Amino acid sequence: MNRYVRVEVNGIEHFARAEGADFRLLTGAPWAGGREVGASAADARLLAPVAPSKVVGVGSNYRDHAKEMGKPIPEKPRLFLKPPSAIVGAGQPIEIPPGTERVDHEAELGVVIGTRCRRVTAERALDHVFGYTCANDVTARDFQKEDGLFARAKGFDSFLPVGPHIVTHLDPAKLAVGCDVNQRVRQQGNTADMVFSVAELIAYISHVMTLEPGDLIITGTPAGVGPLQAGDWVTVAVEGVGAMSNPVVDRSDRC
Ligand code: ZN
Repeated sequence: MNRYVRVEVNGIEHFARAEGADFRLLTGAPWAGGREVGASAADARLLAPVAPSKVVGVGSNYRDHAKEMGKPIPEKPRLFLKPPSAIVGAGQPIEIPPGTERVDHEAELGVVIGTRCRRVTAERALDHVFGYTCANDVTARDFQKEDGLFARAKGFDSFLPVGPHIVTHLDPAKLAVGCDVNQRVRQQGNTADMVFSVAELIAYISHVMTLEPGDLIITGTPAGVGPLQAGDWVTVAVEGVGAMSNPVVDRSDRC
């Protein structure tokens, strides 16, 4: 098991392998053959561990969450796309944009693709995974209802905290997925309760679009989604991966 991060050192972004509190810088993305160059970067600033070509989301993928939203258990995965520009790293603020009355957290297991993946079977799907991370699929619930589409409600800058690192060699079948807000428990689920497993999701998505190395799949959220407001700290934890915390602020649109 290894932990991989992305860091900024002197204004330059690097992938790195985390070893204790140290970062071993890589020549490129670990899924693209990046080699360790040995340097331990003490003054590194942590970024999100991914810079994907696309982020694929899955709606209503936990039975208890579908129920709390008053939606049926889906017969096929309900896919949506989230823009990579929404991604922020651990510790970076989630900005609540003007005009929304209700911004929710959604704790999710994030799956990072390791090798190009096109029309794979569920049996072979996990061979294409590089590793797993924590994701928060932040959603402006009122905009989601108003639009009937997800692009605006889930697409704001900072609406996808990812991190703090990617963990390799993990079995995604039975992992606790949780969310705390200001250290109070909001969500407590388990990937064992997913409607479609990680392997089934990868197989299904790969029959629609080619998954590229570094692409991110966010696999749905368990019950307990709830509102965030400025001043909150929200923490997403995935068993075997770790925990990611982000502050919540009101976005200032003054230039
Ligand atoms: Zn979600």
